[in-house]
Amino acid sequence: MPIRSASDVLRQYIQPLKPKEKLSRSDWAERHFQVTKGSSTGRWKTRPYQREILDAWDDPRVWRTSIMKSSRVGATTLLNIDEAYSIHWEPCDTCTVQPTTGDAEKYSRDTFNALVENIDVLTELFSVCKHRDGTNSILEKYINGASLKFIGANSPNGFRRVTYRIVRADETSAYKAGGAGKEGDQIELLLNRTIDYHDRLFIDCSTPTIEGFDRIESAFALGDQRHRFLPCPHCGHFQRLSAAAFTPGAKKDTPGGFWWEPGKPSSVVYICEHCDKPIQHSQKFEMDEAGEWRPMAPPNIDPNGREHRSYHIWAGISYQANASWANIVAEYEKNSESPQGLQVFINTWLGLPYREDASTRLTAESLYARRDTYTSGTLPDGILMVCIGVDMQDDRAEIFVWGFGPGDSETQAGAEPERWLIEHAVIFERYDTKAVYAQIDSFVLGDYPLSDGKILKPSATAIDSGDGDHAPYVYEYANSRMKHNVIATKGMPQPGKPPINNGKRTEYDMKGRPKKTGAVVYQVGTDGIKTRLMAQLKHGHESGAGAIHFPNDTTEEFFAQLVSERRHYSTVGGQPKVTWVRRQGVRAEALDGTVYADAAFHHAKKKYNQKTMWQQIRATIEAQGKPAPEKSPVAFNLLEGQKPY
Ligand SMILES: [Zn+2]
Repeated sequence: MPIRSASDVLRQYIQPLKPKEKLSRSDWAERHFQVTKGSSTGRWKTRPYQREILDAWDDPRVWRTSIMKSSRVGATTLLNIDEAYSIHWEPCDTCTVQPTTGDAEKYSRDTFNALVENIDVLTELFSVCKHRDGTNSILEKYINGASLKFIGANSPNGFRRVTYRIVRADETSAYKAGGAGKEGDQIELLLNRTIDYHDRLFIDCSTPTIEGFDRIESAFALGDQRHRFLPCPHCGHFQRLSAAAFTPGAKKDTPGGFWWEPGKPSSVVYICEHCDKPIQHSQKFEMDEAGEWRPMAPPNIDPNGREHRSYHIWAGISYQANASWANIVAEYEKNSESPQGLQVFINTWLGLPYREDASTRLTAESLYARRDTYTSGTLPDGILMVCIGVDMQDDRAEIFVWGFGPGDSETQAGAEPERWLIEHAVIFERYDTKAVYAQIDSFVLGDYPLSDGKILKPSATAIDSGDGDHAPYVYEYANSRMKHNVIATKGMPQPGKPPINNGKRTEYDMKGRPKKTGAVVYQVGTDGIKTRLMAQLKHGHESGAGAIHFPNDTTEEFFAQLVSERRHYSTVGGQPKVTWVRRQGVRAEALDGTVYADAAFHHAKKKYNQKTMWQQIRATIEAQGKPAPEKSPVAFNLLEGQKPY
């Protein structure tokens, strides 16, 4: 057994009210659980399609269930049932993970508190507990010998130390790639947190996002891929409800699909794939009563002989009044005209990942085919400014040197620049060695000769300071190179942020102590930059403002990383929300480094009058008499604490 602290201690003092009787989750829910919101408020009734999933969580043969789902199928309520059951009936150590710590707090305050208020057995337990100890906070509950934590997937600390018998990872597709910092992927970390338990249970559950870029899609594919099969009320033939009719241009009169008269959602019926007869929405419930989950892939068994099951649930089999077939058709008709609307519909009503239109999809192959004729390390004509982005990893630094010019919009303030990748270099040294900073110096202090022999020096360098361990080293280096316009940056994915802000003093020295003269850290509006860059790459300008050039020796790997993320649309509380999702298992340094270089460019621009910026720069370059003598980079004595400047 793993070592656990608070809950173990509490178990000694609080006699768990654990009843002897064996009760399955679905039976427990029907006896004790109250639905707290929506039209079906009241005593819980397990729907036929939900029963097998709840039963799987009782089943010792199952260690993981991955649920790829639409909205309106009660998936979150199933998680709530497990939370309540794991406190009241089978007390154990569990956690529920939400995309961010803010989401986790909100979930605890709103959803979990409502459970405690509405479910009598929980109300009782918590009222007793309140008087006995002070161990219950928003994010941690210790009760009845059980513990329940709420964790944000963006919190590196949330994944350390503690182990859990049950992990519920909710809305996994919204977990930011790399969100747990250098610790690794959140799902892998969470899986490790259960490993000590022979009876561990891992539940991951999400609405999917973009095909090929989605966590729950990958998890579903790993499991045995169960779909709900329903018998036709006319001929008894079992079939999956096909959502193929909800595809623009789909033929709607083929057997085995939905049919409706365009513009009349209420006319919708399902045509049996076997007998061709129409099935009415009202018959859906009796079909589900007799329905069954069928795996479409071979079982995935872990070394302990336990199964990973995966389920796809979508609104077509929902019992909620607002998810009738007519509602689904109406939503489809409303949203099918725009790619964004269609994507939201496919994710949130069909519970499927959205497949991008192949003709507009940005691929590594198409960019690779568009490489320019110049070679890395040389500066094609048109470049007037050099800026550098540095992506710092534990074991290496990746340097992205980009050249910028006005293209055909020299006097247009705010126009996109034309840009050229000059060099991508990888320094295989750790972030905490002086060797890595000495080599970064050779880029930051280096000369970049133009074809006429004139020299450009980098106008700005943005180094990502990341979280935790890297930050003090990056701050210290940026501080020592301030006069070369080297800045420490931090990515802020929230929408609406400017490419780079005006910076804020940090408070840490090498030992993590507050410091009056701390480095300045600049926030980078990563999502906005990605949106602009991707639009320009998609547009594929050959030259001029907005054109992006790559040297003839750029690798396919570079482009794979550059297109490793996709814009994803969703609605949160009725408001549209755009986020970026990363392709599973693909590195993204080229994208990140290119984003930092763009941030460096925006930082460098700030000291100029925007209207005359390019003329000013051009005049400065032309004023160069002859190439300046090459300056040899001075080693950076970070570890000795000596500053060369
Ligand atoms: Zn039939």
